[in-house]
Amino acid sequence: MIKVVKFGGSSLASAEQFAKVGKIIQADKERRYVVPSAPGKRNPKDTKVTDMLYACYALVEAEEDFRVPLMKIKDRYDTIINGLNLKLSLEDEFRKISENFKNKAGVDYAASRGEYLNGIIMANYLGYEFVDAADVIFFDKDGNFDADKTNKVLEKKLAKTERAVIPGFYGSTPDGMIKTFSRGGSDITGSIVSRAVHATCYENWTDVSGFLVADPRIIDNPQTIKTITYRELRELSYMGASVLHEDAVFPVRKAGIPINIRNTNAPEDEGTWIVESTCHQSKYTITGIAGKKGFVSVNIDKDMMNAEVGFGRKVLTAFEENDISFEHMPSGIDTMTIFVHQPEFEGKEQAVISAIHRLAKPDSIELEGDLALIAVVGRGMKSTRGTAGRIFSALAHANINVKMIDQGSSELNIIIGVSNADFENAIRAIYDIFVETQL
Ligand code: ASP
Repeated sequence: MIKVVKFGGSSLASAEQFAKVGKIIQADKERRYVVPSAPGKRNPKDTKVTDMLYACYALVEAEEDFRVPLMKIKDRYDTIINGLNLKLSLEDEFRKISENFKNKAGVDYAASRGEYLNGIIMANYLGYEFVDAADVIFFDKDGNFDADKTNKVLEKKLAKTERAVIPGFYGSTPDGMIKTFSRGGSDITGSIVSRAVHATCYENWTDVSGFLVADPRIIDNPQTIKTITYRELRELSYMGASVLHEDAVFPVRKAGIPINIRNTNAPEDEGTWIVESTCHQSKYTITGIAGKKGFVSVNIDKDMMNAEVGFGRKVLTAFEENDISFEHMPSGIDTMTIFVHQPEFEGKEQAVISAIHRLAKPDSIELEGDLALIAVVGRGMKSTRGTAGRIFSALAHANINVKMIDQGSSELNIIIGVSNADFENAIRAIYDIFVETQL
């Protein structure tokens, strides 16, 4: 059995955190491949090393002196090395980095050094082999991740390597340049490595004990989700719940490898399992609640709309012409409503309205802004009667006016539109009825 373990920045922010990570890895012989992030924040006011690197490289690009900020970054690593009593010097590495900065090696190169150096320390600390991600993770000439080439090379390399540290977040392009994934991309590296070694499980260690049923900024101490499917995760992530980089699910999902989100600061907690499919029903019927504020509804009326072939296409063309994507589109017999992101729509609203008039000739168009959308997600809803009833009676009891309801035909989620002002209360009411009351 092989486990791949990825540790996030806060898990590796200091020597103390490294020591916790070391214990976790040593506690299980199956934890053979380690993917570290760059050191994160040690406290809320601290700066992540990745951000320090971006700031430092901005000086390089502005032709300003970058030596002091680069030495501050070196200090962060030296503090970790000294705290762990390692016989390791990064002098040569920093000399090389400084040289490459002078030669304008690129912003991705700069950002990637956070993971690269942390990987060297981690490998030294654990006595594992260091495998530079530039040699095993590849992007094509257009900058897209090259899954096939990566999988081939990485599989071959790690088959010969019993235990290794592979830094997260970056790889290389065919011309040998360093390229990073988007922010938080070490999660993706962990997933790619898991696929290449045919891991039994991809453990993603962070600073929370898994996915929470609802946002802790709205609900005090929300329950943790024990098991969530990839599809549920996608619905919740889309609505703003984030622990894992969105693209991290693809490589492992293809290979049927589960992800286990764990807490470095509470390793005894089981965390959340993210799986393709499960027969475990969630304890609360629903799996999670997430939502976002800042939507506009565009309400379009036209008599006999339902009989007019192509009406929907004409309306959507008006949005497409203005490069606006829509979120939801509930409709009635003679009405149709399009939900769009307020910030994206605001500057273009009159252009969209006139385009709808020109293309679809409606009787009237009305806009309503400052709306929030809430997704109640749960694979358990399919087999449980009355879920929608419970949601709406809870909202009615909390005096919340529901402006829109949309249930996907998969019965995996129910989307509810309320005004921004009711957003938090609505989430509390739904959480209470499913989790606290547990009827
Ligand atoms: N260090 C990178 C970031 O801060 C990547 C990661 O941590 O996953 O975004």
